[in-house]
Amino acid sequence: MPSENDGLMIVLSSPSGAGKTTLVKMLSKIDNYEISISHTTRQPRHNEKNNKDYFFVNKDEFKRLINNQEFLEYAKVFNNYYGTTRTPVIDRLNKGKNVLFDIDWQGADQIKNINLDYKLVTFFILPPSKKVLFERLSNRDMKDKLIAEERMKQFGRDVLHWINYDYVVVNDNLENCYSKITNLINAETSNGSKDYDLEYIRNHVEKLTS
Ligand code: 5GP
Repeated sequence: MPSENDGLMIVLSSPSGAGKTTLVKMLSKIDNYEISISHTTRQPRHNEKNNKDYFFVNKDEFKRLINNQEFLEYAKVFNNYYGTTRTPVIDRLNKGKNVLFDIDWQGADQIKNINLDYKLVTFFILPPSKKVLFERLSNRDMKDKLIAEERMKQFGRDVLHWINYDYVVVNDNLENCYSKITNLINAETSNGSKDYDLEYIRNHVEKLTS
């Protein structure tokens, strides 16, 4: 039975290219924070390692995990499947570890809806502008500008989900964004005051979608 000593579930989502994966890695350096490693059917990128960045599996293995009900959540993102297996997450939470989830809005919705007995804090990370986002997407090893353009279109759809998150943080500068997130987590766990301006976020989203 989950108790006060259990860890927190911390979800970070963002449209592709907002810098969320880097932020998750920075947060995982904090004592007692661990990243939930997802399964995916996507091919590894050249700098990615199996069992560290993802568990890279084929579609049959992914289907087997679905059928065995091993996923806490799973979703199809950009034509590939991604999912979080339940057991490693629950084990860590029960040991008091804070678990970080780098997952999309579909996964975040599912985790929210299953209402686990652990405290959940969800963050949606946004880029400072569309221009910066396009530059970030184009600088990836995928080279192909067409993919960047496709992801920009996807951005317009994904950004609409900001409203379902506890907090939206603009990643204009990694260090700033990181400290905003850690301050909000600390405020959540200690019931302290929150430095959070919803009106500013609303305006920012409007600018990104106009
Ligand atoms: P990428 O292929 O760039 O590593 O990830 C693509 C998207 O899939 C990102 O938005 C990432 O957060 C999301 N993602 C990664 N793992 C999971 C997962 O286990 N579940 C869900 N729902 N999304 C995931």
